[in-house]
Order: sequence, then C-alpha cells, then structure tokens
Amino acid sequence: MAMIDRQRLLTDALADKRLDALLVTHLPNVRYLTGFTGSAGVLLIGQKKGKAIFITDGRYTSQAHEQVQGAKVIISKGAAIDAVAQQIVRLKLNTVGIESDHMEVSLRTRLAKLLPKRSKLKEMSSLTEDVRLIKDSGELAAIERAVKLGGDIFKVALRTIKPGVRETEVAAELEYAARRAGATSMSFETIVASGPRSALPHGVASAARIPDRGFVVLDYGVILDGYCSDMTRTVHVGRPSSEARRMYNAVLESQLAGIAAVRAGATAGDVDFACRQSLRRAKLDRYFIHSTGHGVGLEIHENPRLARNQEAQLAPGMVVTIEPGVYVEGKGGVRIEDMVAVTEESCDVLTPVSKELIVL
Ligand code: ZN
Ligand code: ZN
Repeated sequence: MAMIDRQRLLTDALADKRLDALLVTHLPNVRYLTGFTGSAGVLLIGQKKGKAIFITDGRYTSQAHEQVQGAKVIISKGAAIDAVAQQIVRLKLNTVGIESDHMEVSLRTRLAKLLPKRSKLKEMSSLTEDVRLIKDSGELAAIERAVKLGGDIFKVALRTIKPGVRETEVAAELEYAARRAGATSMSFETIVASGPRSALPHGVASAARIPDRGFVVLDYGVILDGYCSDMTRTVHVGRPSSEARRMYNAVLESQLAGIAAVRAGATAGDVDFACRQSLRRAKLDRYFIHSTGHGVGLEIHENPRLARNQEAQLAPGMVVTIEPGVYVEGKGGVRIEDMVAVTEESCDVLTPVSKELIVL
C-alpha cells in the first residue's frame, strides 16, 4: 500500500477524534507512514489531505529525500521539536495529538512551552497502531520472508544443542546464521532456556550449560526488511520421561486449539480461552502464566494482545502469535509458538517448522 493510502487511513481517524494534526514521534509509526528507516525523525500529519511534514536533522538529509513518501521534508538545523513548534504555529493548528505511549515527558514539556495558548496538545493512544493492526499485502509478504528466514535457521540450533554447550553458544550460532542470511538484527533477545531454566517463561540465553537431560526452550526472531518474526520451539535433550512427554503433548494440543479458534470475528479473548481450556483438560492450566499471543509486524509486540477477556475482534490481515506454555518450577517448561495470519474463515500458519517433539 502506498504511504499516502496509509496516511489517509490515519487522517480519517484524526477527523473522528477532532484533531487538527497528530505529531508522530514513535519511529515504527513514522516508518509505516513515510517509509523513513532512519533513527531520528518526526512526522506532523494534518487532518487535511497533503498536509504531512517530515522533520529530521542534517545527518539524514539524503536518506530522507530518498525514502520519505507522501510528506514534505524539512531538515531542521536545531532541535527537531523547535521546527515542529514552528510548523504548528505556521499552520495554525489548534488541537495536536501526541503519542502519549511514546513521547518523552521532557519533549512534551518543551513543545508545550513553544506553542501559543490556543494550541493544545492532546494525549492519544495507538492511533497509528490501530491502522497498523491490518497488514497490507506488501507487509504480509515481508513478514512471510522474515518468518521463513527464522524457520530456516532452526536447524542451526538443533545442530548446536548438546549437553555441556552453553546456552549463549546456541544463541550465538542462531544469531550468526540469521545475520548471514540477511537479517538486520534479532527482533528481541534470544531465549535459550535449558533444563530447570526452561521453567522461566523469559529465560534469555545465559552462561548455563545444557544438562544431559531436559527441555530446551528456544524463542527467537529476526528482523528482515524492517519486519519481525517470532517463533518458539521446545526440544528435549536425552530421553524424555513420560511426564515430560505428557507436558509437551498438552502444550501442543493447547497451541493447536488456539490456532483452531482463530478466525475473523473471533475475539482475542476467545483464542486465549481455547488455549487455556485445552490445558485445563490436562490439569496444567495453572502453569500457563502468561498471555496467549500478540500481534507482530514492524514491532515484535503489537496489538492485538491475545489475553484473558480481551474483546478486540480479529480481522483478516492481522498477524498474531499463538504461544501457550507450561512452566513447572524445578522441573522444566514447554512453550510452542507460531505466527499466523488471520483470514476470513480461519488462519494461515506462517511458521514453517514441525511441532513434533524433537529428542536430541
Ligand atoms: Zn517468541
Ligand atoms: Zn511472541
């Protein structure tokens, strides 16, 4: 979708909220609306068509002119926020939305001081994020490429995991393979949690050595062309006990139940409920201590949040994770995570990696 079409979706929302403009300071939102991938730049987007101004500094002059679409580029000599204030005054904007989930308090204070009395800043939450909920075809293709790359390097982890190997070594091999394949970075700190550490839902790779026997939870993602991937697989080193197998199968069933609940019109809470009900039948639901999933796109954690009682309705074009887990302190944990794209009738599972229990 062209930047101008994305901007139009946002300006419709600005009209609904009776805002003259929105000051977009959150870089993923700036990127989404203009195509700018640099690390400093803000967008002042007016409610009226063709009134978008992108402001950055001299370090990004050529990059801004090359990348920014659908907005006039201003290269500010001083602080960008001073230039923003000047534009708000020049355009006589009275009600300007700010991204209250992202803007720094000091920046807001400074901006407020620079504005005349008639100009008011209004705190807004997730206006651009709401537009970003539905991925357009270009975004879906980019996400699929990132997910495929993430899936392709899983075999590297499998080759590396052995008793005595440090978790950080496994993470290092994965990350090296990701970069070699073109990823610009990982989408979050790689999780490699082995043995008793697998009971930590967020066990970032540590110096711990993989034990002779037990689960290893691998949760990682890559960023490719700006879009994130996110997947979790849990493997077992040494022969799994019947209890370990039972735990694995229960999580897998729960994950499949979650996937089966995804369709346009279902609520985020419905999907979460399906995962929890499934684990309840295995009497393991009390060990499922986090939410079921989250949206993924330019950022690793986006809306919708798939959690208890969430009323947000799924719609075609949303991309979410389904990632139930069970964590038993002192014993170990299992999590399985795929990314899926919501369709009218169900969903497409994007993650191209088997979920059969792998014993190493
Ligand atoms: Zn994950
Ligand atoms: Zn996730």
